[in-house]
This record gives sequence, C-alpha cells and structure tokens, in this order.
Amino acid sequence: MPIRPENKARYPKDWPQISNRVRFDRAQGRCECAGECGRGTHTGRCTNRHGSKAYGTGSIVILTVAHLDHTPEHCDDANLKAMCQGCHLHYDKAHHAETASHTRALAATAGMEPLFSIEEG
Ligand SMILES: [Zn+2]
Ligand SMILES: [Zn+2]
Repeated sequence: MPIRPENKARYPKDWPQISNRVRFDRAQGRCECAGECGRGTHTGRCTNRHGSKAYGTGSIVILTVAHLDHTPEHCDDANLKAMCQGCHLHYDKAHHAETASHTRALAATAGMEPLFSIEEG
C-alpha cells in the first residue's frame, strides 16, 4: 500500500529512523500507551509487543508511532508515542478524521503491510 503523497510530504525524511528509535530503542518494542487511547481495554501500560499476539484479538501486533497532537511535522520525542495498532486506531479515531490514510501511511513507513482491518472515514 503506497503512502499517499499528501501524507508522505508531511513526514520528515528521517521518519523511518525516528519511528524505529521510538518503537525499539525507547519503547523496547512494547506499546507505550498508558490509557491515552481511551478504549478502556487495559489499565496501566498496554502489554502488546511488536510481533506478538495482541491480547483480546490474538492478531499480530504491529507497533506504530502516534503523534499525540496528530501533527506529522511534530516529531519531538514528547509528541511521539509507540502504540500498537489497536491503541493507535482508537486514539486517532477519537481525534482524527484521516484515520485510515494516516494509519496506512504509518504502516507503510514502517515497511509493513497493515494486517489489521481499516475503517474508512
Ligand atoms: Zn496498545
Ligand atoms: Zn491503549
């Protein structure tokens, strides 16, 4: 799935490096969501780990990087949080109308196919 041009342009050119650093150096491959997603399926920090089965669904976790203010240009560490696709989708759904394309762009920049279902709109 190619990144939409209008989305890709908003990410810094070293986004893959930033994304990898946040997800694997800082978060150690584990979702950093501590309830920000608001989906209410975990208390404390989410236990999902990249490449492992997600609790609840059993699908394979793909760790992504969420922009807490939903602005791709803002790549300060404080604005970034490693999130599993479940947390990320729910977090964006509440705040962001471009959830599907945004999530596809994240999955694509991570070099992975989005294995999870994506809701349009
Ligand atoms: Zn999570
Ligand atoms: Zn969460």
